[in-house]
Amino acid sequence: MPKILDGKWLAEQVLSAVQREVAALVDKRQRVPGLGVLLVGDNAASKAYVANKEKSAAKCGFQAFDVRLPADATYEQVRDAVLSFNSDERVDGILMQLPLPGHLDSSKLLDLIDPNKDADGLHPLNQGLLMKGAGMLRPCTPLGVMKHIDLAFSNIDPQKGQHAAQDIATARLDGKHVVVIGRSVLVGKPVGFLCLERNATVTFAHSKTKDLPAVCRTADIVIAAVGVPHLVKADWVKEGAVVIDVGINRLPNGKLTGDVDFDSVAPKSSAITPVPGGVGPMTVAMLIQNTLHACKSRQSQATK
Ligand code: NAD
Repeated sequence: MPKILDGKWLAEQVLSAVQREVAALVDKRQRVPGLGVLLVGDNAASKAYVANKEKSAAKCGFQAFDVRLPADATYEQVRDAVLSFNSDERVDGILMQLPLPGHLDSSKLLDLIDPNKDADGLHPLNQGLLMKGAGMLRPCTPLGVMKHIDLAFSNIDPQKGQHAAQDIATARLDGKHVVVIGRSVLVGKPVGFLCLERNATVTFAHSKTKDLPAVCRTADIVIAAVGVPHLVKADWVKEGAVVIDVGINRLPNGKLTGDVDFDSVAPKSSAITPVPGGVGPMTVAMLIQNTLHACKSRQSQATK
């Protein structure tokens, strides 16, 4: 049986660690982290994601600052909300929930976020630092994927008893071949760079890749970030591979499913993430962790 990489459990471990650090800040009479959340429009999925993120922030003792704008908000209104978070000393992390309504240029607006408050790690400066193997704020979903990989190679199995997250060592990926399917700026590219940073050999596969099943069969770790339900089949995966499914797809019956055909792939894998309950919860946890890092970094800069 493969190890099921339980993202809810893993996220709980990360959030508990953040909670303890926030309690220590309170003990030292230091400011608690502040998360600025900007939601434009009333997309149901975005509303649910934002509610989840705010719930986790509140659980960790963060202050939350909420700005909601209507779906027809102008570029100037959204810009001003971002700039106001930038200049608010109480805000350490800024979350601009994507996608924005179609008339708004999200790339231009993301570029306005103070890179030191870039909780999502999507500002071009932070992306450039990631390429250099430097920087502190990395994109949340890729960070969550790396924690799943750590769990996969650890001797900890959430189904077999409780261990704290700090027991999970950073996995050594030297000599491992990682195939990332998908090359988006949000997931595919940054997750590949994070694996490369750990000495993995990385192949970026995408919609123009020839014989994708054969490429995947060479992988020790398959990371699927595509958006095509059940694309990755059992005969795409070599025996014992680790399979990380980033995809979130809604089926016509309303159910959520991933990019991996879980039922057929799981028996061949050594470890696999479920959808839902895999990478998704970790994306939220890493946003919270990034905000804590940003808060600590800003506080230490302020005392210098
Ligand atoms: P995207 O549409 O920006 O990128 C998809 C990538 O997949 C592209 O690079 C494309 O080349 C590649 N692709 C498309 N069809 C393909 C095919 N048939 N074969 C091989 N490659 C193909 O999407 P994204 O933002 O990277 O998101 C990917 C998936 O991950 C989506 O399902 C999204 O909902 C999900 N997602 C989940 C989380 C999470 O927290 N779990 C976060 C972000 C995205």
